[in-house]
Amino acid sequence: MRTQNFLPSRPGILAGVCGLGLLMTLSGCVTEPYTGRSQFIFTSSNMEASMSLDSWKQILEKEKPSANAAMCAAVERVGSAIQAVAGKPDYEWEFRVLQSDQANAFCLPGGKVAVYEGLFQYMENDAELACVVAHEVGHALARHGGERMSQAMAVQAGALGLSLALGSQTDVNRERWLMAYTGIATVGYILPYSRTQEYAADQIGLMLMAKAGYDPDAALAFWERFSQKSGGRSTPEFLSTHPVGANRIAKLQELVPKAVLEYEIADQKRGLGAKYAK
Ligand SMILES: [Zn+2]
Repeated sequence: MRTQNFLPSRPGILAGVCGLGLLMTLSGCVTEPYTGRSQFIFTSSNMEASMSLDSWKQILEKEKPSANAAMCAAVERVGSAIQAVAGKPDYEWEFRVLQSDQANAFCLPGGKVAVYEGLFQYMENDAELACVVAHEVGHALARHGGERMSQAMAVQAGALGLSLALGSQTDVNRERWLMAYTGIATVGYILPYSRTQEYAADQIGLMLMAKAGYDPDAALAFWERFSQKSGGRSTPEFLSTHPVGANRIAKLQELVPKAVLEYEIADQKRGLGAKYAK
């Protein structure tokens, strides 16, 4: 009898699952145009951009702008080269350097890009910075923010459905089921997608940097150095927000020949660009 009590009622589960299924069907899947990957997104680009404007304001209020003129000039220079080939004149582009030792960077939906000072210790030239900026811009172009938000909302909707289905259960049993559900949903659904998004952003970023005239081989140089130097005791923030598998460099190597073709026909060849003093 105890075991039976622990299980949610069948109609309840059905209601939860149907609710989630309906949500997913209504939203429909979209095909991301850069890699051809299917995505499940039910936020709109406008909603993502307006939410990101609020976040950007909050970030700029909280974080200090960098006083390092060379870093700021590099991010402006590389940022405008990437912006010029991103094909998004409607984005409200902005490129900032933030004062912090953390090795991180991001691009919010709609084109707000920030690089933290700490990431510069891993970079030797503009082309490597272009690899990072273009990777971040790749996340924005492919709407990975909206995709993650949609996934989180679906998980919550599923949890809500399950919570309703478990209405007649004791608090302890309900808690156990919800914890189990959230664990499965997070591990089985959201995390593997993040790695897929990482590889997609690598792919989009590599093509973008090449199109902007930066030598795509610099991406390999950056990732090899970054993964070696950051292999120590602490995990740099960039890796914790950008989880990847061990075969990232191998996957990039496969893409380089295609990026070289793009580089060869670029309007302006920049090679490795400006070198950074160490
Ligand atoms: Zn990433």
